[in-house]
Order: sequence, then C-alpha cells, then structure tokens
Amino acid sequence: MASIRTRLTAWNAGVLALIVCVLLGAAYAFLRYASLTQINRSLLQEKDLVAATIAAHAGQPGDRAALVAALIGDLRTHGLDVLESPGPSNTIVTIPVTLDDDDPPSSADGPRPLTIVDWRDLAAKLAAQGDDDRAFNIRAERGQLRALAWRASLDSRPFTFVVSEHFHDTAELLETARDAALLALPVALLIAVLSGYLLARRALGPVAAMTAEARRIGARNVHERLSIRDPDDELGQLALAFNDVLARVDAALEQQRRFTADASHELRTPVALIRTEAEVALSSTDTAGGEYRAALEATRDSSRQLSRIVEDLFLLARADAGQTVVVAQRMRLDEMIRSTLQGLQPLAVAKGIALDAPRLPIVVYDGDPELLRRALTNLVDNAIKYMRGPGRVEVRLEAAQGEYVITVSDNGPGISASDVPHLFERFFRGDSSRPHHETVNSAGAGLGLAIARDIAELHGGSVTLASSTEAGSIFEIHLPANRPGDVLPPEGSSSS
Ligand code: ADP
Repeated sequence: MASIRTRLTAWNAGVLALIVCVLLGAAYAFLRYASLTQINRSLLQEKDLVAATIAAHAGQPGDRAALVAALIGDLRTHGLDVLESPGPSNTIVTIPVTLDDDDPPSSADGPRPLTIVDWRDLAAKLAAQGDDDRAFNIRAERGQLRALAWRASLDSRPFTFVVSEHFHDTAELLETARDAALLALPVALLIAVLSGYLLARRALGPVAAMTAEARRIGARNVHERLSIRDPDDELGQLALAFNDVLARVDAALEQQRRFTADASHELRTPVALIRTEAEVALSSTDTAGGEYRAALEATRDSSRQLSRIVEDLFLLARADAGQTVVVAQRMRLDEMIRSTLQGLQPLAVAKGIALDAPRLPIVVYDGDPELLRRALTNLVDNAIKYMRGPGRVEVRLEAAQGEYVITVSDNGPGISASDVPHLFERFFRGDSSRPHHETVNSAGAGLGLAIARDIAELHGGSVTLASSTEAGSIFEIHLPANRPGDVLPPEGSSSS
C-alpha cells in the first residue's frame, strides 16, 4: 500500500487534471460553438440576400446563359463574388473576396476573388448533404470556406446555390486554442502533482512528528505525553485521544505497581513470623516440647493467613485478567446464605454475637455458589471481626425491582466518614480495624471488600455500603435477577 502522502498527491493530481480537462474542453467547445454560430448567422443573411435576388429574376425572359449572367451580375452589384460551377452541374457559388493584406491585388478593380480548389469535392458534399440546411467546409484557393447550400429553381430550371464565408481564420483560431489547451494540460498536471505533494507534506508533517514522539514513549516514561499544537484540529484530537490512552495505561501501570508493592508488603509479615517462630523454636532448649508446640501453632496461624492472602491475590489477579470464570449453576440464594452463616457461627458464638437470617424467601438463582459464598463470608466476617464486644449481625434477602439484595447489618462501631470513599480499595484498612487486630489471625489484608465487590460485578451486580453510623453498618450485595419469577415466600422464620 502506497503511503498516504503518495495517495494524497495522486488524488490531488487526478482531481485537478480532471477539472482542468473539463474546463479546457468546455472552453474549447464554447469557443467553437460561438465561432460557428456567428459564421452560420452571416451565411443565413447571405442566403436571404441571394434568395431575394433570385426572386427578383424570376419570370424574366431569356435563355439560361443570359439569365445566369444577369443573376451573377446582380449579385456582384451586392458585393458578392460569384463563381459558376464548370460543367453542366447548375451550381452557383457566392464567394467572399479575399481581404488578405499579404495578397497583392491582381487588378486595379480590387482584391482578387478566391477560387474553389476542388469542384468535385464540392459536388460530392452537395450530393451527400441532400436537402439539409447544414453548413459544411470546402477548400478554396487560400484556405477554408464555410458554406451553406440549398436548391432553388431559376426560371423553372433547378439550380444549387451555395453561399460561403471565410473559415480560415476561425479554423486557425480553433486550432490555436486546441494546441494551447493540449500544452496547458501537462503544465497543469505538473502543477497539480507538485502542489499535491507539498500540500500532503505540509499536512502530514505533524503526523511524522507525532509518530516520532509516540515511538519515544515506553513503559519507563509512560507519564510523558504527545505535544499538541492545536487541540481543535483533527490531529490535535488524535493526539488528545492518544494522550488519554497513555493516561489510562499510566494509571493501570501505577495501580499494578501499587498492587505488587502492597501484596509483597502483606506477604512479608506472615513469612517473617513463620521464620522467627522457627528460629526461636530451633534455638530453644525446651525438651518437653511446650515451646515447639506453641511455635508450630503460631506457624500454622501465619501459614493460614498467608494462604488466605495468596488465595485472595490469585482471585483478584484472575478477575483483573478477565480469567475468573463464573461457574453459574442453578442454586438457591437462601440456602447459600444459611450454610454460609452456619460456617461462621462458631466465630460469632466465640465473640458473643448473635448471627441471624430471619425469614429468608426462597430464591432460585443462576450464579456461582462458591464465589457468592465467599463474597457473603467477607461481609459477615467483617461484621463479626469489627464488633467490639457482644452484638448482633443480621442477614436478609429481598427481591426488589429486577434484582436480589442480600443485606448484612451489624451494630458494630460503624465506619468513619474519611474511610468510606476508600473502603473498596485493595489493601485498604480502616480505622475500625486498628485497635482490634491484636492477633495476626484476626487482621485482614484489606482485600475482603474488594473481592466481594469483584465477585458481585462478575455476576453483573455490585456491593454497596448502604449506611454506616455509630450504631452499626449495613452492606448490600445487589445481584441482577436472572431468573425472574423464581421467588417464593419464606419457608417460615429462619435462623442458622
Ligand atoms: P479487611 O481485610 O481489613 O477486613 P476489608 O476490605 O474487608 O478489609 O475492609 C476494609 C476496611 O473496612 C476494614 O479495614 C474496616 O476498617 C472497614 N470495615 C469493613 N467492614 C466493616 C464493618 N462491618 N464494620 C466496621 N468497619 C468495617
């Protein structure tokens, strides 16, 4: 494929050449039409004059020769030179006197009349013309004549009359005009190619500059931007769009970098703890094994936390890469809630928290039960985890306006207003988490809400903080109803 510059040049040259061709052609056609119309008009005037003269001779006595001689004489008095066709062809031709300055007069009477060069050619043309009133060209002694012929009778004898006018100058003018047009065409084409090339070069210059700038931008200097000369023109718009893409790539890279840094940071603590415990145990002299046991327990707890974080990171990374496939199957949301709460019951009981899910309606849903269980676990786990002392956590399920809403409410400490905008960010830990995560086990990595939100989004839904006051928080999982009508009334008051 040729470059845009070459194509622009070719298009420009082509279009310009076409325009010049059409204009020159039209100008030539108009010039020809105007010249021929003018000649035809004088031929018609001349025809009228000759016809009137013939009419004046009608009915006069005398033989043919005398009649013709009288007619010719009359025409000559009207300033027309007249030739009679040699032979018996009965053709009378009026002919213009030559007015050529270079032509020396043959006699003192005035300029020498022209003569027809080829009478046979004229006869052929007359025969071909039939009764048409169309003008045609004939060759005279010095150049061309334009002629008009018609048949008329002179004293009941058929004659062909021909009137003629100089055509030499007009033909020459037309020829000169045609030559000039043919000469102008290549010149115009050359100008078109040159101007097209310069135009394309000028128009595409900034593109080349932009390309060079774009080539210099890589992963290390992705914060750099293309310079914009005019934000309103098309190239400015292109540069703006390109800069927008760069900004998004930059933000994504930055997020990736932060994610990697945060992840390494989170993994460092349990890994360091495992190592320390192992070292302490190894250097211990406790032969009864009490310290070994304690060290092993601490190591187990840290390993648990480690695998939880690794699992969370894995899920988030796969969701980012679009690899987390939702294994949707027909499931009961109410049953999923009940079994999730059952699993968390020991944790709640240990903290003296009442975990309840009253009157769950029966909801058949197409979703991934494992992922949904994980999302709900994260919310309920937070509610239990951040509760200071005994309290109550309640889970509800409702069908509302084309969606199902799972509500998790607690009467814990609530979330401070400054934390709310960051709640769903990865690795974000709020105020409420601080004074209470004494043990490694209870401290979250700040991924729970981010994961819950990702899971809901994978199902086409969302997770929101519906309200948070000092009296507690309410989180909601919204899931679009993908099986409308599959809601039945609760099976009765239910608690897990
Ligand atoms: P973490 O692993 O720290 O629990 P999350 O993403 O689940 O991370 O939660 C982020 C932060 O939101 C927590 O550190 C905590 O400060 C706050 N938070 C979440 N749920 C609750 C809740 N039910 N009550 C009070 N604070 C909460």
